[in-house]
Formats: sequence, C-alpha cells, structure tokens
Amino acid sequence: MSLIIRIDVDRPYGKEPLARHCLSRLSSDLYFPEVAAFGYLSELQTMLRWLNEAGARAYAFFRRCTLPSQPVLDLLNAGGHEMGLHLENSRSQDTFLQEKQFMERHIGKPIVAMSKHGSGGAKYGLRHYAPYEPERYLEWARQSKMRLFLGNLEDPTLQPQGSDGLLFFPSAFWLETPWRNTGRFPVEWLLEHGRERDIVLLVHPENVLADTALTADFKKLIRAVESRTFS
Ligand SMILES: [Zn+2]
Repeated sequence: MSLIIRIDVDRPYGKEPLARHCLSRLSSDLYFPEVAAFGYLSELQTMLRWLNEAGARAYAFFRRCTLPSQPVLDLLNAGGHEMGLHLENSRSQDTFLQEKQFMERHIGKPIVAMSKHGSGGAKYGLRHYAPYEPERYLEWARQSKMRLFLGNLEDPTLQPQGSDGLLFFPSAFWLETPWRNTGRFPVEWLLEHGRERDIVLLVHPENVLADTALTADFKKLIRAVESRTFS
C-alpha cells in the first residue's frame, strides 16, 4: 500500500527570514500580492521538485493567501499531483462554499479534496475559524460531491473510512515532531507500515525545509515508500 502525501501550504512567504515571515502574516490577515522576488511559495516549489525527482505523487492543499502561482502549477502538472482546499473559514457551509469557489475560479477546475487549517486550538490568521469539527466538513464535502477529506488527528493507526464516494482519513503521520508521538511512531514505523496500508504523511513545506533532519526524513520516505492519489 502507499503513502498519501499531504502538503498543507500555510505560508505564502515561509517563515524565514523575518521579513518573509511578516509578508506571510500580512498576506494571511489582509492582502499582499504574489511577488516572485520575495520567494512566493518557494519552499513548496523546492518540495515539489524533490517529489518529481523521486517520482512520488502528493496532494497540495492551498489557502486563499497561498493560491498556486504559474511555476507551482507547472510543477504540480509535471508530477501528476492533485490540488485541494485547505479550509480556513469553516464557520458555516456558506463560508466553506465561498472558499471552495474562490479556489476553483483560480485553478479553473472542481476541487474534490480538502484538509482543515488548524486542529481546534489557536486562531491562525484573520479569516481563520479555529474550531475543528470534522463531522460538519464531512457533511459539506458529501453534499458538494467531494471525494477526499484528510483529518488532523495525530494517531496514524486510525483506519480510513468511506461512504458515498467520500473517503475520510481521520488522522495522519505528522512528520513535524511537535504533533507526533515520536517514541511510538518513529520514521521507521512509517517505512514499515506505509507498505502495508494507506497512511497519510502530513508536512508543511516551511517547517521541513527549515530542519535538516526533517528534510532527510522526508526525502527518505518519498523514495522508499510508494505514494498515490485517488483520482
Ligand atoms: Zn494549516
């Protein structure tokens, strides 16, 4: 079986150095245009190049402030990756539909996969609605004929569930260690179990690129374990 590689694209300009961190915050809360010279989505582009070199396939989930630029779209197309919605304003079904349509207008095709920004704790950005309510998203996704929802729980042994053409993975193997029980779930655990069944590997490009150990783990996983999408 396979890795379901989930890339949540949270920050348009990453978090380093400080000036780019500030541009990320400004883009998230108000508005800042897409500027290649400041490295718009540069961490994601690096990660997509690694995936394409390894022949691995992934889902990239975008926010309103991280919509894919043309260089990102080219890399996604070259690698046969899928795009999804990283839901931010989950206050109501209407706000969900607004975000989905905003993104569909940008990329020019229907969105059938989604993940949720934040797991119910802090508020990340002005438009962010913080509570994490997967049952509501599943209902909205079902009504919108979406195919895949990747949830935020941190126990990667939880099994996927499916009904009415909608596949739901309640949890992920979070590569970044603050969200993983590293004693119970070291990277070796995923190398072994990712071959036995489908498991979601969740990463945030700016965190993986900022940490050489995480970068090495990511490259090892995408080469050693097959990955897939569901289209
Ligand atoms: Zn997020």
